[in-house]
Amino acid sequence: MKEIKVLDHGLVRLVDSMGNDLSVVRAARNSYDAAWRAGDDKSGDEKLLRYLWKNRHTTPFEAATVSFEIKAPVFVFRQWHRHRTQSYNEISARYKELPDLFYVPDIDKIGVQSKDNKQMREFGGQLTEEQEENLRYEQGLYKANCQACFENYHELISRGWPRELARGGLPFATYSNMFATMNLLNALKFIELRSHEHAQYEIRVYAEAMLHLLEDLFPVIIKIFREGQ
Ligand SMILES: Cc1cc2nc3c(=O)[nH]c(=O)nc-3n(C[C@H](O)[C@H](O)[C@H](O)COP(=O)(O)OP(=O)(O)OC[C@H]3O[C@@H](n4cnc5c(N)ncnc54)[C@H](O)[C@@H]3O)c2cc1C
Repeated sequence: MKEIKVLDHGLVRLVDSMGNDLSVVRAARNSYDAAWRAGDDKSGDEKLLRYLWKNRHTTPFEAATVSFEIKAPVFVFRQWHRHRTQSYNEISARYKELPDLFYVPDIDKIGVQSKDNKQMREFGGQLTEEQEENLRYEQGLYKANCQACFENYHELISRGWPRELARGGLPFATYSNMFATMNLLNALKFIELRSHEHAQYEIRVYAEAMLHLLEDLFPVIIKIFREGQ
């Protein structure tokens, strides 16, 4: 099973798949009852896939399915779960005590709050020594806060608190784990939205990792998808 490491403790792992480029070609050719010509006419297959994608004739792209295992901070999952066309199974913090694992951004990925776009952050190029020193101090504050949350979490559990309540004090940066299953069309829609420069860096790296993993399975479709990006 192929996997790509992202952020400080995250990963994207391809756990299952059904279909390939040809599955989409076959589904499309079924529409007009033509012979499959599977593998006989590769240039014709690519031309058809390009036509389908360009003209948003999308249902054939639903003929393939993929499942990923994702390990990511809870605030990334919060954004991810807005994508209703994926099926999710996430680790239960009611069932299991969570390990002390939380995301700490690298200092060169912190940036500052954008003045033009209320959702985004901006980067001002090379950091000065003073900026770097300040950021290290601030990164330390953030880390100490997360560590204190975990210490209190474990203490509450050891005092008899139920896991389902004690978790309420954990930070958004806590790592969680899930399986996400989707058809190829919805995987590409997710990647399109979440690898865009307006998406948060911490989810963009997951979308880009997914695209890399899909490239081995669907080389022609991903080539066409990249052309349109
Ligand atoms: C950069 C960025 C910023 C965002 N900021 C915010 C924000 O500030 N606040 C916020 O709340 N959300 C925000 N979102 C989330 C966004 O509004 C969508 O919820 C998210 O991108 C999922 O998109 P989707 O609905 O197309 O995906 P999916 O849920 O996977 O749906 C895929 C497609 O299926 C169809 N569909 C699915 N369910 C329905 C339905 N019930 N009715 C009709 N059609 C349906 C639609 O065509 C949809 O495009 C942001 C997203 C991005 C990428």
